[in-house]
Amino acid sequence: MSNIRVRFPPSPTGYFHLGNARTAIFNWLFARKEKGVFVLRIEDTDPTRSKKEYETAMMEDLLWMGLRWDEGPDVGGPYAPYRQSERLAIYQEYAQALLKENKAYECFCSADYLENEREEAVARGAVPRYNRRCRELSDIERIELKEKGVVPAIRVKTLLQGEIVVEDIIRGNLVFAYEDLDDFIILRSDKTSTYNFAVVIDDYLMKITHVIRGEDHLHGNTPRQIVVYQKLGWKTPFFGHLPMVLGKDKTKLSKRHGAMAVEEYRQMGYLPQSITNYLALLGWSAGDERELFDLEELIRVFDLNRVGKSPAIFDEEKLRWINHHHISNLDEREFFDISLPYLIKAGYQVDKKDIRLMKLINIIKSSLHMLEELPVRIKFYFYSPELFSISPSEKEILERVRKNVLLWESDLTVDEANLFLNELSPLLGLPKKGYLPLIRKALTGEEKGVELNIITSSLGREEVLKRLDAILIKHEK
Ligand code: GLU
Repeated sequence: MSNIRVRFPPSPTGYFHLGNARTAIFNWLFARKEKGVFVLRIEDTDPTRSKKEYETAMMEDLLWMGLRWDEGPDVGGPYAPYRQSERLAIYQEYAQALLKENKAYECFCSADYLENEREEAVARGAVPRYNRRCRELSDIERIELKEKGVVPAIRVKTLLQGEIVVEDIIRGNLVFAYEDLDDFIILRSDKTSTYNFAVVIDDYLMKITHVIRGEDHLHGNTPRQIVVYQKLGWKTPFFGHLPMVLGKDKTKLSKRHGAMAVEEYRQMGYLPQSITNYLALLGWSAGDERELFDLEELIRVFDLNRVGKSPAIFDEEKLRWINHHHISNLDEREFFDISLPYLIKAGYQVDKKDIRLMKLINIIKSSLHMLEELPVRIKFYFYSPELFSISPSEKEILERVRKNVLLWESDLTVDEANLFLNELSPLLGLPKKGYLPLIRKALTGEEKGVELNIITSSLGREEVLKRLDAILIKHEK
C-alpha cells in the first residue's frame, strides 16, 4: 500500500447525483491505481439539511457502482469518527487554539448587522466582505459584550494583503489575493464549524494526500482552506480540481438536461459498469480512441495527468450507447438474473428456471439500451393476444399456416423459424407481406415488435398452435 490517501466527503443533503458520483469515481480510481486508501467521510454539519436516508442511499449507490471505501463511518478506520457531526469537539478545540495564538478572533456582529452591510455593499456594486469591525476589539469590549449575553462567532485573521497560490495538479498554479478572502467565520456562534474549517482539520487529521473535487470549490473554498492550513501551521495536501460537468447547452448540469440521481439510472436499467465507464469519461480520456472500459480496465488506464481543464458535457445518448455495449457483453445467465426484477416489476409471472425465456432474453439483449425497455419487448411471451376479427381470406391463410406448423417435429430454432416463415411464401402463393403481419398479429396482438422468427421460435410449437387455434376457433361458423 502506498501512502496516498484520498477522500470522498459528500454532504447528505439530497440524492446522489451524477456530478458527485463522478468526483467519487475519480478519487476511487486514483486510490486504486496508486494502491492508496479511499476514505468516505460524511459532511453532515448542517443539521437542518442533512438526512440519514440520503446518507444511506448514497452509500448504497456507491457500493452498487462497485466503489468500496477502505475507511468510513460504517467500516471505521484509524481516524474515526468519519461523520463530521461526531467531530464537533475537535473543530472547537482547534478554533480555540487559533484564538489563543491570536490567529483568530471573536466576532460579535449580529446577523442583521452583517446582512445590512452585505446589502449596502451590493447596492454600491462592491463585493460583500466582512469589514473586520471586531478584529481590533479590546479585551474590555469583548468582556462587556459577553456580559450582555452576545455569543461570538470565531473568525480567522486573514492577511490584509499579498497573494495566495493554489498549486493545482490539473490546472497549474492559480493566484488569489488575500484581500478578496476577508476574515471568514470558522466557528459559528452555535459552536458548529463552517465547511472550510472542518474540511481542513479532517483532511489533515485523516492524512489526506490529495484533495480531488469539483472546480466549483476552486475559487470560493480552496484559497480559504489554504489560509486555515497556514494558520494551523500545516502543510497543504495536493489539490486537483475536476472540470465542471455541463449540459449540452453549456449551463450547469441539472435535471433539465436529463441528469438524474444515480438511483434513477439504476432503476431505468443502467448497469453499474456503464455508469462508472461513462462518468470516468467526463473530464478524462484514455489518450486514445478507446471509450469502453470495465472497472478493472479503468483502474489500469486511469491517470490524473490526463484529466482535462475544459468542462465535460453530459450526453445521455452516449451513456445509452455505453450501456448498450455493456449489456451486450453480459453472458446469458448473468443477464437473465439482472433482468428478472424488471420482469417481476412489470407484473409478469416469471419462472427462474425457464430456459426458453432465458434464451429469448439473450437474443433480445443486443438490441437494448436499458433494461427498462425489456418487459414491453417480450410481453408476447407472457400474454396471449386479445382475440380480434379476421376476414375469411385471412382465416384461410391462418388455417394453412397452422397445417404447416403441425408438421414441425419439435420447436424451431431462430434460424429454422426464419426458414419456415420464408418458405410459407410459395406454399401460400403470397408475398411475405401478405401473411407475415397477419401471423404476427395472431401470435402477439401487435403490429410490430421483436422479429417474427424470434417470436415463433421462443413460443414453441405448442404455444404457436394454441394461439392460432384461439383465433381460428373464434371464427368458426
Ligand atoms: N461536502 C463537500 C461537498 O459535498 C465536500 C467538498 C470537498 O471535497 O471538499 O461539496
